[in-house]
Amino acid sequence: MPTYSYIADNPEDGCLSCRKGFDLRRPINRPALTHCPLCKKPVRKLVSGFSTPKLTKPLSISDAKSAGFTILEKRCDGNYEKL
Ligand SMILES: [Zn+2]
Repeated sequence: MPTYSYIADNPEDGCLSCRKGFDLRRPINRPALTHCPLCKKPVRKLVSGFSTPKLTKPLSISDAKSAGFTILEKRCDGNYEKL
C-alpha cells in the first residue's frame, strides 16, 4: 500500500497534524484525500519525493522555503563527499 503525504491547504487553519503535514497509507485505487480526517479542513497531496518540512516546524510554507531546508541538506552532503 503506497504512502501519501498530505498538508493543510491553509497551514494556519489546520489542526496539529495537517498543519505540519502527515503521511497516510491508502489503497492505490482510492480517490485522493481532500479533507483532513481529524479536523475536516481542506488538505492537498504532496508530490512524492518532495521532502515535507515536518522536522523544522516552520510557521508557514514560505518560511520553510526561505529557510532553504532542502538546499541546506544537499550542501551538507556535498561537503562531506569532498572531505
Ligand atoms: Zn487537520
